[in-house]
Amino acid sequence: MLLDNNVGERYASDWSEAVALPPKAVLRPSSTEQLSDVMAICHDHAQPIVVQGGLTGLAGGATPQAGEISISLERMRGIEMLDEAGMTMTAWAGTTLQELQEAALEVDLYLPLDLAARGSCNIGGNVATNAGGTEVIRYGMARALVLGLEVVLADGTVISSLNTLVKNNSGFDLKQLFIGSEGTLGIITRVVLRLQPRLLSTHTALCGLPDYPAVLALLNNLKRDFGAGMTGFEVMWDNYYRSVIQQTPGATSPFQSEYPFYVLIEYKENAPVAAAARFESVLCEQLEKGVMIDALIAQSSQDAAKFWQIRDGIGTLLKQLGPVSNQDVSLPIALIGEFAQELETLLKERYANLEILYFGHLGDNNMHAVAYTGRIEDTSPIGEDIMQMIGRYGGAVTAEHGIGVLKKKYLSLSRTDNEIALMKRLKQALDPHDILNRGRVI
Ligand SMILES: Cc1cc2nc3c(=O)[nH]c(=O)nc-3n(C[C@H](O)[C@H](O)[C@H](O)COP(=O)(O)OP(=O)(O)OC[C@H]3O[C@@H](n4cnc5c(N)ncnc54)[C@H](O)[C@@H]3O)c2cc1C
Repeated sequence: MLLDNNVGERYASDWSEAVALPPKAVLRPSSTEQLSDVMAICHDHAQPIVVQGGLTGLAGGATPQAGEISISLERMRGIEMLDEAGMTMTAWAGTTLQELQEAALEVDLYLPLDLAARGSCNIGGNVATNAGGTEVIRYGMARALVLGLEVVLADGTVISSLNTLVKNNSGFDLKQLFIGSEGTLGIITRVVLRLQPRLLSTHTALCGLPDYPAVLALLNNLKRDFGAGMTGFEVMWDNYYRSVIQQTPGATSPFQSEYPFYVLIEYKENAPVAAAARFESVLCEQLEKGVMIDALIAQSSQDAAKFWQIRDGIGTLLKQLGPVSNQDVSLPIALIGEFAQELETLLKERYANLEILYFGHLGDNNMHAVAYTGRIEDTSPIGEDIMQMIGRYGGAVTAEHGIGVLKKKYLSLSRTDNEIALMKRLKQALDPHDILNRGRVI
């Protein structure tokens, strides 16, 4: 246990802009039994706690609030079992995503969850937030990869549901309660993950497109032509692309000209030579049809890394832009182009010197919008305007980062009163003293 001055800044906040606050104490259990004992005591004393994984969350859920004790999963780490025949892996919740990815690759298997925070985020945090990332278009979000869970409830009860079977309809699928509920219903201690065969060849291209309808046409054409082989379809509006090229050290555009939209496509297969030929011929067809204006196929992993550097440039860009409203939202895909235009017009009317950058995992309906004026006092009203427009368009106020504390007041824009009431009934049933991640999500 860490107390007072020993707590330090490390446990005071996650990566979000929620106001940092060191917890009263940090408890670091090293087994499910220890955690269960701790929770039984907290439950008896109605002591609120905040669950902390890798602290890379962007919704403020793991940032402590007044009076809370932190429960850090950092000592509950490591891989308990890797079943090569069954293609499953059982790991402790405090294990980093990267350790799990590497362990799978060592036996020629693949864990299809990846995000830029891989070296720090924990699998428990990934499951609690139902993390997305870059290969959702093929493999789904974290939820789709989880076969079983072990969870400690608010009163210390251990729910061991470490299922390893793909098909198991024996009663309620209880793990679904905890996946994506951001630590409000239970603390995940162990996770059983479904692995995939490792694919041998990766093909990457960067393309220039004339307009949003062309982006939609390209996505549908490639879904048809590549089938399940397409693992990435990342879209960048010209303003995002230009900002990264101009402001990120080492990022350069491989094109001679500029285009209104850029799409980064990734395709994975097992027969490298045949897959390369197929990749090229499908892209040539899209060029000939005029869906794309330009396309460059990476000839090496270094080329591919340069393309991805532009897409991932947001990490560096965010450090340079000053105060921003950084929103991660989902919308019906056909409406995203129109939404982006209408939002930019509205915000430019309301705020002087407004800039807005759009990019995202469009293959999964997921767009990121980063808006800024240089004035910190504008970020909150800009965020409010974006959320209200998301509500009007029937979108989701968060696509992959979660509600946490930062989006709590907007939940009703995306979910009905009855849905929220049911969430509250579940919370009351599982955590009657409201001690687990109090004030998050609902
Ligand atoms: C550079 C960067 C890139 C990112 N890219 C993506 C991306 O592409 N896609 C994406 O989805 N997210 C992304 N994120 C957000 C973040 O990495 C994910 O939300 C991640 O899943 C959080 O994991 P964590 O272990 O850091 O959780 P934390 O930040 O510690 O916690 C997140 C939430 O989960 C709860 N929690 C944590 N562990 C447990 C547990 N064991 N049991 C119950 N509740 C728990 C916490 O209380 C909190 O509410 C990114 C973040 C950064 C900093």
